[in-house]
Amino acid sequence: MANIWTQNDDESWRHRAIDGARLGLRASEDAAHAVHVCDAQGDAALVTLVRSDSDERQEWALVCADPKRVRVNGAPVFGLRMLEHRDELRLDAGRALFSTETLPVITPFAGPKGAKCPRCMLEIEHETDSVRCPTCHVAHHQTAKRPCWTYSDLCAACVDHPTALDGGYRWTPEDL
Ligand SMILES: [Zn+2]
Ligand SMILES: [Zn+2]
Repeated sequence: MANIWTQNDDESWRHRAIDGARLGLRASEDAAHAVHVCDAQGDAALVTLVRSDSDERQEWALVCADPKRVRVNGAPVFGLRMLEHRDELRLDAGRALFSTETLPVITPFAGPKGAKCPRCMLEIEHETDSVRCPTCHVAHHQTAKRPCWTYSDLCAACVDHPTALDGGYRWTPEDL
């Protein structure tokens, strides 16, 4: 699931997971820094973020209603632009940041059949509680008997992603 960080009037940031396939954004009317979420179908939307699903990947495009008022990473957008993790959106004076980072969550394993856990090297059975690494997407067991995901501080496959289940996002606007 993709996320959007939008700036508030006081320049603090607000985080929101994008749970639908479309999201409208508009700039603040008083030329402040704020960006607001709005109805994607309505007239108020200055940009619309649109999701397209292909196989397991989700792609997001930004559709722009007015190239004079919208920039992504400093460049004007004519019509449509594909979004990447950490893209910076400017709507007039307002700022928003796009992120594709997901959090590690425990879900029943849905396949593929025969997939092996990179920590214990044993097969992960269908419907077993498991965690898929947000970075490398490899599934690990995560049951009371076999807490393979949280066994160590880092993912067993990529040895990069932290395994804390309450660790929050790795990347936030404060990192800029
Ligand atoms: Zn395991
Ligand atoms: Zn990983």
